[in-house]
Order: sequence, then C-alpha cells, then structure tokens
Amino acid sequence: MESRLTSYNVFPSLVILSVAAGMLIWHSALSSNTRDIIYWMPYGLAAITAMLALQFNRRQLITVVMVNSFSYWIISNYLQQPLDVPEAKTAFTLICLFIPLNLVLNQFIRENGSKTRRAWLSYGFILIQVAAISLSINYFSTDLLGIIDEWFPPRPLDGLVISLHALGLATLCLVLAFIRFLNQPTSLSIGLFFSFVASVFPLAFLDREAISSVFFAASMLIMLYSGFSASHELAYRDELTGLLGRRMLFEKLAGMSKNYSLAMVDIDHFKKFNDTYGHDVGDDVLAMVASKLDQIEGGGQVFRYGGEEFTVLFKGKKLDHALAFLDDIREIISETPFAIRDKTNRDKGDKAARDEEAKPKNTVQITVSIGVAEKASHHANAEEVIKEADNALYKAKNKGRNIVVG
Ligand code: GH3
Ligand code: MG
Ligand code: MG
Repeated sequence: MESRLTSYNVFPSLVILSVAAGMLIWHSALSSNTRDIIYWMPYGLAAITAMLALQFNRRQLITVVMVNSFSYWIISNYLQQPLDVPEAKTAFTLICLFIPLNLVLNQFIRENGSKTRRAWLSYGFILIQVAAISLSINYFSTDLLGIIDEWFPPRPLDGLVISLHALGLATLCLVLAFIRFLNQPTSLSIGLFFSFVASVFPLAFLDREAISSVFFAASMLIMLYSGFSASHELAYRDELTGLLGRRMLFEKLAGMSKNYSLAMVDIDHFKKFNDTYGHDVGDDVLAMVASKLDQIEGGGQVFRYGGEEFTVLFKGKKLDHALAFLDDIREIISETPFAIRDKTNRDKGDKAARDEEAKPKNTVQITVSIGVAEKASHHANAEEVIKEADNALYKAKNKGRNIVVG
C-alpha cells in the first residue's frame, strides 16, 4: 500500500517551522554577525529555490519565490518604523492581502511549466501588483488611510498585528489551500501549503524581532525540500501506474541483507488485449491492474518492473507467506471486471466524442500469472532471485496462466 503516488511527508515541514519558532526565542542572544546572516537568509534561499524551480520547470515554485521575496523586501524597508506612519500602515495592509491571495491562487492554478504562456501571465500579474503596491506606498498612503482604518486597522488585539479582516481572509485562504492539498496530496503541494503557513506568521506577529527573516527563510527551505522530494518522486515513480519503478526496486534490493520473497507478476495475453482494444485502453487497464495489485496485503510492496510486468517484494517473509497473499490478489484481480472505454470514438479527436467515450461502456476480465522465489544462501545476488522468480513465472504461463507458482 505504501507504494502509491500519494506518499508525502509532513514531518520535514513541521520540523522547519519548529526550528524557525525556536530561532525567534534565541535571536536576541545571537551575535550581530549571525543576525546579519539571518537577515540575508531569505534572499539567499530564494535565489537557490528559483534556480531549482527553473531546473525542474515549476511555475508554482517561482511564484512562491516572487511573492515571498517582494513581501520580505517591503517588510525590511517600510516596516522597521511605527505602524502609525502612513507608509508603514499602507505597506503592511497591502502585504497582508498580497500574500494570502497570491499564494492560494498559486495553488489553484494547475502547474504546467515555468516558461509557458500561463506562467508568464502569472509572473506578469504579480509584477503588476508589485508595481501597484509600491506606487500606493510611495504616493497614495495618506489617501488610503481612511479605508485602512475602517476595514483593516492593525493591532486589533494584544500581541496580534494583522487586522481581523485580513486575518479572516488569510485563514480562509489557508483553509482553501489545505483543501486543495488534500485533493492533490503530493510532496510539492504539501510544501506549498506549509510555506504559505510560514509566510503568514510574520504578518500576525510582526512585532517579534527577526520574525520575517526567520519565517520567510523557513518558507523557502520548505519549498526547497519539497522541490527535491518532488524530483525524487519523478526519478523513482512510474508515471502511468503511480507505482515505484525498477530503479527503486534495485535500490531496495541492494540494501537488503535480511531474507525476503519476491514475485514477478505478468498480465496474461496482454498483447492480444492491446491488439483488440488499442494501446490507450491497454494503458488504462494496466493502471487499473496496478492499483488493484497494490492493494495486496501481508506486507508486499509493489513495483512496476517494466511493460506489463510487476514485482512484489515481501521483506523478511518466507515463500509460503508470500504465496498465500499473492494467490489472494491473483483471485481478486481475476474476479474484478475492469471498465474500459469504447474504442470506436477514440480517433475522432473531438472533445464531445471523448466525453462520450469517457463513460464506461464495457468491462473486461484480466488475469495475471505469478512466479515467486525466496532469497536463499545459494543466491549470489538479487538478480539471481529475480531470475528464479522469472522461471517460476514461465512455469505458471505453461500451466495455463491465472496461477501462482513458487
Ligand atoms: P503472456 O504474458 O500471457 O504470455 O502473453 P502476453 O501477450 O502478455 O505476452 P508478453 O507478456 O510477452 O507481452 C507483453 C505485451 O504487453 C507487449 C505489449 O503489447 C504490451 N505492453 C507492454 N508494455 C505496455 C504498456 O506500457 N502499455 C500497453 N498498452 N501495453 C504494453
Ligand atoms: Mg510480459
Ligand atoms: Mg504478459
């Protein structure tokens, strides 16, 4: 079960946020050199994150960098004076709206690359806001005071700097961002959510010394970490099925000193299936079979070995244990009707036809054959165990398919 695409880890983001909170407590005890470093940290981390974002072609990462860097710059330049000063009050209020609105929007605009038309439009949109905010602070801050005092008066409560309306808006945006994350739980979307949380802290508790340096740096670190995790996912996960790929299988096997059992699973007569229904329907079915297979119990971890072949690894388990659970899943697959789309409309390429064909019209029965081997002292390496499982699979095919041989 753990091999599905939806694996993500909230722990690193929570650690980064806790360390940031801890740094606030210790900040006054730090030397002035260290404080200087902390002051420049958000910019340094933003530059590294931006480079990573370009490398990985991620518009959402670049947007977070832009929003955070500009907000940090405004806070460092205009908010180191009392909030009663018109420029400071305007700057603070506008940043309180700019951060949540742009970060939630960022999460809802689907990622399609850092250099696409959509990406340039969204960078342009942020730059226009940046220009408007800068103009408002420098030229219109006294004109805006009336509206700000009526709608967004800062320091509504002791210790809280953000106005209640802006806090309500930020909370609403955070809830929406969280719902969006739940819909698409990937390592990048969890990062987007937590970096959003980190970016809201300085607005709420602006009075705390160094809070913006520390939390904008935390936000960048969270994005860096999730960027790396996402690239790791890309390297190790198979896109079609969402399963871990062969690269991860061999890495796991290389580090495995304990005993294990390993199964090779191959879909029966899949070539004929492709010939009948077309390669695209074949791909759909392959993904459905993978997802069913991934529900295997007994501690089996499923990998896509290649083509329509899968590997199930049972760490520290004997052959008999693996055989029992593999036979259960073989039976479940053989009894599951897989819904497929009608292929007659496939080639029309017209959206209505595609919508029409998206409705399940037929179901097909699929069976798999499975060969299993247990690691023993005569196996010099993992390749030999795989070879033995492959031989067992060959026997399963010869015995008429839809069977487990160990
Ligand atoms: P059997 O295993 O029962 O002996 O027969 P088979 O027809 O399944 O034979 P084999 O395993 O050798 O065939 C593999 C076929 O699987 C070849 C190819 O048409 C199909 N296949 C492999 N990878 C993919 C894929 O990613 N997508 C689709 N649609 N088909 C694939
Ligand atoms: Mg095959
Ligand atoms: Mg096959």
